[in-house]
Amino acid sequence: MTREHAGARACIALGSNLGDPVRQVREAAHTLDALPASRRLAMSSLYVSAPLGGMAQPDYINAVAILRTHLPPLKLLRCLQEIETRQGRVRSGRRWEARTLDLDLLLYDDLRLRDTELTLPHPGLAQRNFVLYPLFEIAPDLDIPGVGALRELVSKSGMEGLRRMVHTHETQAS
Ligand code: ATP
Ligand code: CA
Ligand code: CA
Repeated sequence: MTREHAGARACIALGSNLGDPVRQVREAAHTLDALPASRRLAMSSLYVSAPLGGMAQPDYINAVAILRTHLPPLKLLRCLQEIETRQGRVRSGRRWEARTLDLDLLLYDDLRLRDTELTLPHPGLAQRNFVLYPLFEIAPDLDIPGVGALRELVSKSGMEGLRRMVHTHETQAS
């Protein structure tokens, strides 16, 4: 008898700064739970972060989830994009614009990939404290392929512009 393959470990960054961001992130976490051939293993706390690029837009709510999945990477990415669309994401083509939901695939096992649609690990991962801190909370021993130990990245990265949401009743980003 062959043992069923356990599936891949996928780390997903959740972000929102429009349309009640805390609710958006929580709703997306529930939807991730229900993805086909997948199971959510962990979910970080919620964090509040200042937007990238110094643009005048509301603060972000960020979190990271880990899934065990049998979906291949591109299929998973398309599922994430579908969830974004269902939660009202409108794409104007501009980078880092305000959005109801952003779901980035940070890691898919140890896969390194440079496809037009999908780069793995996610290229912003090592530079973004709003991704590093929540990821570290739920996977402190992780190694980022081609980059190094998550622990090292976190220790080099400050908490500038970032705070962990302590009160679960907080509903506003700021
Ligand atoms: P950033 O990617 O810097 O966080 P963003 O999330 O605002 O910026 P989007 O507009 O959401 O960028 O995505 C732009 C494109 O990035 C998508 O069309 C998608 O195909 C591509 N992409 C490449 N690698 C990834 C990845 N690992 N996760 C999510 N999208 C990715
Ligand atoms: Ca992003
Ligand atoms: Ca994205």
